Amino acid sequence: MQKEALLLLSCCAPCSVGVIQQLHAEGVNFTVLFYNPNIRPIEEYHRRRQENERICQELGVPFVELPYQPEIWTEATRGLENEPERGKRCDVCFFLRLKQAATYAKANGFTRFSSVLGISRYKDFDQVCRAGKKAGEEVGIPYDMTNWRKNGGAERSIRLTKEKGLYNQNYCGCKPRFK
Ligand code: SF4
Repeated sequence: MQKEALLLLSCCAPCSVGVIQQLHAEGVNFTVLFYNPNIRPIEEYHRRRQENERICQELGVPFVELPYQPEIWTEATRGLENEPERGKRCDVCFFLRLKQAATYAKANGFTRFSSVLGISRYKDFDQVCRAGKKAGEEVGIPYDMTNWRKNGGAERSIRLTKEKGLYNQNYCGCKPRFK
């Protein structure tokens, strides 16, 4: 039987730190994936990636970064520049990242994939789940719809972000492009 292995798509350290610590404490076999072509500018991308990698290294959790592909994101969201956060641009953005995560998971022996993209109170959790489910169905790997906000998850992330002094941005990813 195939060994359980979870691929967790992460957008940044503050959103993922509580989940990473929880999964690590539970002894779950998991890897963190960083695929975020939505983040602007590139300096911000590197800052978030470095911080996310650092918290994984502290716990010995595997961390994988896929190439930064801002042009793919720009092309996919063309015409949706004036959409509000939680609107159609976010549908496309979530699906793009989750499809890539599903593809990586399928190709690398993972048994399921999930994400922390919906953990923030600014996000629509159901919108993220719809994108993850669709991506998983297209690729042929189940999307784990655990709501990481629940059971104190959101509070744990906030507490750990403060305790560890993590860099905590004040916008999702594409804001500098779209006011
Ligand atoms: S607000 Fe965030 S989720 Fe929505 S399109 Fe921009 S980067 Fe993607």
